[in-house]
Amino acid sequence: MEQKFQGYQCSLCGKKYGVREVQYTCPQDGGNLDVLLDYDHIRKTFQVKDITDSCEESLWRYLPLLPVGDPGGVGTPLRMAGWTPVYSPPALKSCLGLRYLWIKDEGRNPTASFKDRASSVVVARTREMGSEVVVTASTGNAGAALAGMAAAVGQKAVIFAPKTAPAAKIAQLLIYGAQVILVDGNYDQAFDLTIEASQEFGWYCRNTGFNPFTAEGKKTAAFEIWEQVILGLDPKMEALSVFIPVGDGNIISGIHKGFKDLQQLGWLPKMPRLFGIQSEGSAAVANAFFAKTDRITPVVADTIADSISVDLPRDGTRAVRAATQTNGAYLTVPDSEIIRAIGELGPVGIFAEPAGATAYAGLKKALQNGIISADSPVLVLLTGNGLKDIKAAMQAVKEAPVIEPSLSALKKLLNGWGGYA
Ligand SMILES: *Cc1c(COP(=O)(O)O)cnc(C)c1O
Ligand SMILES: [Zn+2]
Repeated sequence: MEQKFQGYQCSLCGKKYGVREVQYTCPQDGGNLDVLLDYDHIRKTFQVKDITDSCEESLWRYLPLLPVGDPGGVGTPLRMAGWTPVYSPPALKSCLGLRYLWIKDEGRNPTASFKDRASSVVVARTREMGSEVVVTASTGNAGAALAGMAAAVGQKAVIFAPKTAPAAKIAQLLIYGAQVILVDGNYDQAFDLTIEASQEFGWYCRNTGFNPFTAEGKKTAAFEIWEQVILGLDPKMEALSVFIPVGDGNIISGIHKGFKDLQQLGWLPKMPRLFGIQSEGSAAVANAFFAKTDRITPVVADTIADSISVDLPRDGTRAVRAATQTNGAYLTVPDSEIIRAIGELGPVGIFAEPAGATAYAGLKKALQNGIISADSPVLVLLTGNGLKDIKAAMQAVKEAPVIEPSLSALKKLLNGWGGYA
């Protein structure tokens, strides 16, 4: 394991650190650390076929490219994270006028969001380090994922979440048996408290945009997009455009890292274009992109999409670069379009939470702006399941009618419908 995992490099000052020299962020400037892998060693030891032939139907098929050893946990949800399906719904393609469209459904992860990728890898790291307790701050999903992945292998977990988190997410935390602490404050305040607590009590901290292993878990989505979509594309086609919802910016940074890993290995035909989508009410990363800087200015976040409601994105700098370095872009969408997107995905059989539908809303805007054309191959990352936040979902639909249990009442109702009676 040590052989492929070489250490870290600061994304701000470029300083390199050995595996045991640092744990979280750069001691000099607080910059996010990129994990360094020994690509020569990996290239000598593995071939593309070793990965594409793997029988492991989870993100653990990419163990050769991860900075952790085999976590065990066979037969548990820890071992089932990732390897989510991609859909290509004909109805959406014709509605949007796109020839090539894929939707990757991260709601199909064990705890129903993308965060299982980071949490399973961080739990693997926690056990390797022999830490008694793992802790995270979360708007909900990261905590649910950590609680679930930790429970799967009997690891103690403590979760801090804002007390305003959606009820379903809080229920998940409690059901998985984590120690749950609701903070009378926002996510950013819970985040800072978690770091203090981890230092005080020696807990291993999973915080997004702080722990370098979260991006390593998240990069596995790039590997799957490569296997499931990119390897099947005509090499003459333009690069795949990937639409990603952005809050802290760790998902888009992780996906960028995954594609960079593949590029370093010489396994990636063309670097995909990464498009980050934010809610207008929580757009600190997009603001920096528009201002042509990678320094982030915090906002006062206010959006229905709780999973991407962030004042100060903790991985903002790398998140801006993910778009600038791949010829991608940032787009913002109003909450009303996010709700509309939930309502448009439902009728093709896909149920997304608000943040999960945000990238789809961004794709629609990109098509209107002409950034994406009808022949562009596009993948939309749908990051979380709609059951996570049914209060938001109900805003996308009309309430169901209530009738008396009689045929005459039903007939009266059906009068107003077409094609049913
Ligand atoms: C966390 C999360 C995001 C955003 O990820 P960041 O790393 O914070 O940018 C998007 N959608 C869902 C469902 C999430 O849980
Ligand atoms: Zn630094």
